Amino acid sequence: MSSSSTRKELRLQGIGVSPGIARGIVLLSGDSFEEPESRSITADEVEAEHFRLKEAILATREQIVALQSEIEGADHAGIFDAHLLVLEDQAVIEEVKRLVASDLKTVDRAYFEVIERYLDSLRRITDPYLQERAIDVEDVARRVLRNLRYPGDDGKSSAAKIDEPCILAAHDLTPSDTVSLNREQVLGFATEAGSPTSHTAIMARSLNIPAVVALHQFTDALEPGDEALLDGYHGLFIIRPSEETIREYEKFQAQESEVLSDLAKFRGADTVTADGQKIILSANIEFTDELTQVHEQGGEGVGLYRTEFFYLNEIALRAEDQQAENYTTVAKGVSPHGVIIRTLDIGGDKLWPHAFDEPEPNPFLGWRGIRVSLSRPEEFKIQLRAILRASAHGKVRIMYPFLCNIDELRQANRLLDESKCELDAAGIPFDSEIETGAMIEIPSAALIADHFAKEVDFFSIGTNDLIQYTTAVDRVNDRVADLYQPMHPAIIELIRITIDSAHRHGIWCGICGEAAGDLHMTPIFVGLGVDELSVGSAQILRVRKAISTLETNDCRAFVKEVAQLSDHDAIKARCLEKAMAHYPELFG
Ligand code: PEP
Ligand code: MG
Repeated sequence: MSSSSTRKELRLQGIGVSPGIARGIVLLSGDSFEEPESRSITADEVEAEHFRLKEAILATREQIVALQSEIEGADHAGIFDAHLLVLEDQAVIEEVKRLVASDLKTVDRAYFEVIERYLDSLRRITDPYLQERAIDVEDVARRVLRNLRYPGDDGKSSAAKIDEPCILAAHDLTPSDTVSLNREQVLGFATEAGSPTSHTAIMARSLNIPAVVALHQFTDALEPGDEALLDGYHGLFIIRPSEETIREYEKFQAQESEVLSDLAKFRGADTVTADGQKIILSANIEFTDELTQVHEQGGEGVGLYRTEFFYLNEIALRAEDQQAENYTTVAKGVSPHGVIIRTLDIGGDKLWPHAFDEPEPNPFLGWRGIRVSLSRPEEFKIQLRAILRASAHGKVRIMYPFLCNIDELRQANRLLDESKCELDAAGIPFDSEIETGAMIEIPSAALIADHFAKEVDFFSIGTNDLIQYTTAVDRVNDRVADLYQPMHPAIIELIRITIDSAHRHGIWCGICGEAAGDLHMTPIFVGLGVDELSVGSAQILRVRKAISTLETNDCRAFVKEVAQLSDHDAIKARCLEKAMAHYPELFG
């Protein structure tokens, strides 16, 4: 029996990663990663254990492929490709076999230990994107362990068995959980772990249901049959909402549905200011799965395809065909629009387990992005050839990340030329006029944008890093989060310099960092004359609507006015006033 104090409303703050409001009974999903017992085997059993591993991997492969084919169309298929890569990682398999043979451990135990070590190294990475990939490894490992333990079982998880409308709550949801669950019945997701780049977030956005992640510990506070409200706009999970809260949310939902029906008319529309100035509004993606959402939200192509996903597995580094196929899926999927494929941006905080023998003392200023690619030219050319091959199937552009000087750009372009020659020699078609762009995300690049502009076809400003490197504020360090200021006058000035340089040399300039979707900044970007904004899919219609209310000349005057202000808070306050004067309903 529960005490009355535990029955009170409990409001938990997390990160809203997919907008919307849901109200319903909470269902706690709790598949855990089980530790197999530690038991020794005899030398005679080694061969049989190796055989069990082979069988379990085969069974797991079949289950993953079956799951992949259960999904309509190409949706979510990319995530399961990642799972196959994890499953068949030879480094893992060989290490497990070695432990079985040399330490005489059962294969269950050896597999568990190797995976735990792998997970540990992934969890130590501070980059939320790569940290989230740990869940792929966990998902696959759970399956392999289940298949070792119960050979011949169907491998279905508990989330597949939901049969009533509910808010699904869990420590974290695996991709298998989210894909195999009964979607008609799930009203939203709430998880203790996760980040905006977690699978839960990506899936929720593509299913168009609200989700809140990073809620920290809440599962202990839940009791069977508890009702909850999930607010994906403000990142709130309200367990056992009071009558007053329910009424407050009913009002909010009514307002919200008005805003959403108003936004719906912007779906198939161009992105234009009130005085007719056109801006391209595209989407940032990390997985092919997100293309559905890009279409649904009326995105004009993909302005940033992050390709780090391939590099979790050493094999994928060399898998040119696999990469080409993936890029082609995106190129075809965004047609008639285009996709900007960013080459590998690993390193810095985005370490990947296979590449670094020694930790770097200062990884943000270390071996990252184009620096890694240029120091591994053969692997870089695999990616370049794969991108080129995709360019035969749609409008594909290449973008280099983390450029700090012109020489890096020239070296990259030389390797691109070599890649073109190699494809030519092999008779493989590609777009010989493929456009190349520089990501402007380091202050030195912004300050010499005039030089860069002569040697590329476009710029895209990566504000996430530009802010980090200009203000010397680690973008993932909570302690200095208040110093991470998108509207710092220095940032606005660097964006101005970059856009002006692009235009002086007749090329276009976009923005693809998170700031591109920040509605406070839309009037500034319009005033600075940006040509493209690439935002998270969920922001597309809001940004398009905001732009439709603005006039170019007025925004230019606004930029001049803001340039007189010396600090971030003053600029932000003025931006908020401006936004509220034009599109108050978008601020909820
Ligand atoms: C950026 O730096 O703004 C950006 C878009 O790249 P990433 O967030 O992947 O570093
Ligand atoms: Mg960046």
